[in-house]
Amino acid sequence: MIPPGGCIGILGGGQLGRMMAIAARRLGYGVMGLDPNPHGPLAQVADRMWACAYDDLAAAQELAEHCQVVTLEFENVPAETLHALAQRVPVAPNPHVLATTRHRLREKTFLRDHGFPVTRFAAAHSEADCVAAVTAMGTPVIAKTCEFGYDGKGQVRIDHPDQAAAAWRSLASGEVIIEALVPFHSEASVICHRRADGSATTFPVFANQHAHHILDVTRMPADLNPSLTEQARQMALDITAALDVVGTLTVELFVLEPTDGQPQLIVNELAPRPHNSGHITIDACHTCQFEQHIRAICGLPLGDTTPLMGAGAMVNLLGDCWQHGEPQWAAALLQDPRIKLHLYGKESAAPGRKMGHINCVGTNLSECVDTALGARQVLCP
Ligand code: AMP
Repeated sequence: MIPPGGCIGILGGGQLGRMMAIAARRLGYGVMGLDPNPHGPLAQVADRMWACAYDDLAAAQELAEHCQVVTLEFENVPAETLHALAQRVPVAPNPHVLATTRHRLREKTFLRDHGFPVTRFAAAHSEADCVAAVTAMGTPVIAKTCEFGYDGKGQVRIDHPDQAAAAWRSLASGEVIIEALVPFHSEASVICHRRADGSATTFPVFANQHAHHILDVTRMPADLNPSLTEQARQMALDITAALDVVGTLTVELFVLEPTDGQPQLIVNELAPRPHNSGHITIDACHTCQFEQHIRAICGLPLGDTTPLMGAGAMVNLLGDCWQHGEPQWAAALLQDPRIKLHLYGKESAAPGRKMGHINCVGTNLSECVDTALGARQVLCP
């Protein structure tokens, strides 16, 4: 166990690192980070930052010397850096978890081989492969780069085999996964935390609505029947155990209409870290996802994840809100005293960039959603 008073290293200096650090500080830990940007969201709240590239092994080793555990908010840290760190200090999640979850093809193969429901998929390593796979699978499909994709980047929908060659060329990647399009009616996520001794928790299932491939609104709890909710939570716990995650695993799910003999839940992807959909837990739950992450990686007892008031909604604030200058923060907060504003301290706003979010917690979910959306409307008319 790493008791409060110890120091936690964080690779990646964005908003997830910042919110992990705030939770760690509340528990009395020191926080040091590594990120190329010396002025990012984490840098403003960390004790010390190494502003360098993720492949700077000397800096990573120095970070390790100051910390009792190192964690990540950013999955694409080079394997050499993780291995150099892991020789000196526990890294949570383990490099083997990251090796699986950072690569879509390895991740889907792992899930399928362990019996978890995923959409049909195929690998392509050349244009000819891509055309052959799309022709064999039938359309519509989505072709995705195996690495470095997020928020819909690095993926293209193919509606006819004739489009496969162009799709391959547009992705400009040597390795692509082709997935059958899932006719989902909603998207959900389950956030699990697990300690090294195998004890684990989940939060309520979240319903996630995207706009332009970026998470827009999260509703807690998702409107699923009790049996499907339990199925989602148990599946997420089983995946977390199968991967032997220490820390956080977010399982993103597609929810389908019920049909005979077909699974109603399909795993879309995994993220071995706190997740945008879990930001509602900061205000809505007894223990938030960031505190639970710190508890899990430090070996502290896991906290209670129960919602305090039953329901909550989160809406993202993207850089688009800044297009006419600084938003009217006070006006939005005046909309309703239940509005909770979270800003990440980013230096500059750009369209699509996650700048902050608004949470609203209560007993009535649709009221929470309306209140949070109303406040955003004031900010970003
Ligand atoms: P991803 O980066 O894989 O999470 O994809 C981003 C979004 O694209 C998802 O949240 C879905 O809305 C959509 N998407 C991705 N893969 C599929 C699929 N196989 N079928 C249907 N929609 C998908």
